[in-house]
Amino acid sequence: MTTLAIYPNCGEPAGYRRHLRNGTETCPGCKRAIADYMQKWRHDRGISKGRLIPDAVIKEHGIRVKA
Ligand SMILES: [Zn+2]
Repeated sequence: MTTLAIYPNCGEPAGYRRHLRNGTETCPGCKRAIADYMQKWRHDRGISKGRLIPDAVIKEHGIRVKA
């Protein structure tokens, strides 16, 4: 099976979810879209900074990080 864009919304997170729902292989555009989406999602919640912030700073500022 090839990995071509097969849905109108390929290249968007919605397209990625459509691949999953239909059981089709995710195309490069959708993989990139979901990677960007997840990166933003983590960034918005401060998760991507989890390993960079010392415990003391996390306590002081009340930032909760899931290891
Ligand atoms: Zn796709």
